[in-house]
Amino acid sequence: MRIGVIADDFTGGTDIASLLVKGGLKTVQLSGVPQEHISIDADAIVVSLKSRSCDIDEAVQQSIGALRFLQQAGCVQFYFKYCSTFDSTAHGNIGPVTDALMQALTTSFTVVCPSLPINGRCVFNGNLYVNGVLLSESGMRHHPVTPMRDSNLVRLMNAQAKGETALLNYEIVEQGPEKITEALQAARQDHYKYAVVDAFKDFHLANIAASLGQLPLVTGGSGLAYHIACSLSSRASCQPNPSTQVPKAAPTVILSGSCSEMTNLQVHQYQEHAPSFQIEVERCLGDEQYAEVIADWVLKQKSQFAPLVYATSDSQKLKEIQRSYNAESAGSAIEALFAKLTRLLSAQGITNFIVAGGETSGIVTQQLQLQALKVGKEIAPGVPWVFSLDGHFALALKSGNFGSPHFFKNAQEMFHDE
Ligand code: ADP
Repeated sequence: MRIGVIADDFTGGTDIASLLVKGGLKTVQLSGVPQEHISIDADAIVVSLKSRSCDIDEAVQQSIGALRFLQQAGCVQFYFKYCSTFDSTAHGNIGPVTDALMQALTTSFTVVCPSLPINGRCVFNGNLYVNGVLLSESGMRHHPVTPMRDSNLVRLMNAQAKGETALLNYEIVEQGPEKITEALQAARQDHYKYAVVDAFKDFHLANIAASLGQLPLVTGGSGLAYHIACSLSSRASCQPNPSTQVPKAAPTVILSGSCSEMTNLQVHQYQEHAPSFQIEVERCLGDEQYAEVIADWVLKQKSQFAPLVYATSDSQKLKEIQRSYNAESAGSAIEALFAKLTRLLSAQGITNFIVAGGETSGIVTQQLQLQALKVGKEIAPGVPWVFSLDGHFALALKSGNFGSPHFFKNAQEMFHDE
């Protein structure tokens, strides 16, 4: 059986790909839908999109394109992967993309399960918590593009999607797969279209995975996908096979475009070990040579650990920036700068990229024109090293809130000398 994953950003794609590999499935991650035919020998294919915060129509179009490709590649069950902090606006894109995928698959019911207890994302009575605080009280309330100001997944789903959302709470989930299956069937009979399923322990996710059977579409974070992979691989009797591939010591840069609390901490910690360059929004908007200036600065650095270029700002600074400039144009100008910088640096021989931020990672991967990525050794839960198929590029693509405070240094400590 082949499982096809549609991930709404690149770090989400690498996150789920690493957990599918860990769960025992041979997995290939693709950066967007391939333009040309490629033959893939894998149990799971992950298509990473950049559909989290673009227009709804564009997100739907990208997602349906990915679905069609995965169907042609032989996938029979599909997983829509979004962030474990349910990154979206009041209108989408999680709800509309889920609706479009359900329609394309002619299925009338799916589950909503962003939970990832290993990274502190837990769903209790339908409310999403991040490291013990409600999503709406976590750093995600300040996200520059998708600020999360409601924690209730039933309400969020009802606002974004076309059908009604049921809640299966932990009391049912703890009774095991059979009871969950019964409750899902009852919700479907009551004409609910989606069911938010509580999970704040790993065994909750294992129970949910075992209850889903052949549900054509599952939606959620990487935690549930790991348990689906485990049950598929034990059926196919393949062994968990974590990858051990790490990058060689080669010219490296760190690009940080996330403003999450964890990335702020990581940037702050890393500044003790290596030179850093703070991007000024004003110059992104007005100075056409700004990327060249920064590229020159990066190439001049001779420190033990790689130089860091960051737009990362704390919530206070971000508020000031967004008061002075339109939030969308500031975000786009920074993304355009990272795009140009990536092109300039790769042309100058930088081959290892450590990137913080889902959207930012999407840009870097696009600019490097990486069609398919091999998943390597895990740096932190949900963040593996990934490699271009020819082995030239090595990337650590980190979703904003992932990784420990020393992530940037830890990633480089894994390098091997040839
Ligand atoms: P995360 O994984 O934390 O969501 P992303 O890279 O997906 O990080 O998104 C961060 C967004 O915020 C990007 O679009 C980025 O360009 C934008 N951004 C980063 N720094 C700033 C800043 N200083 N001012 C305004 N927008 C910013």
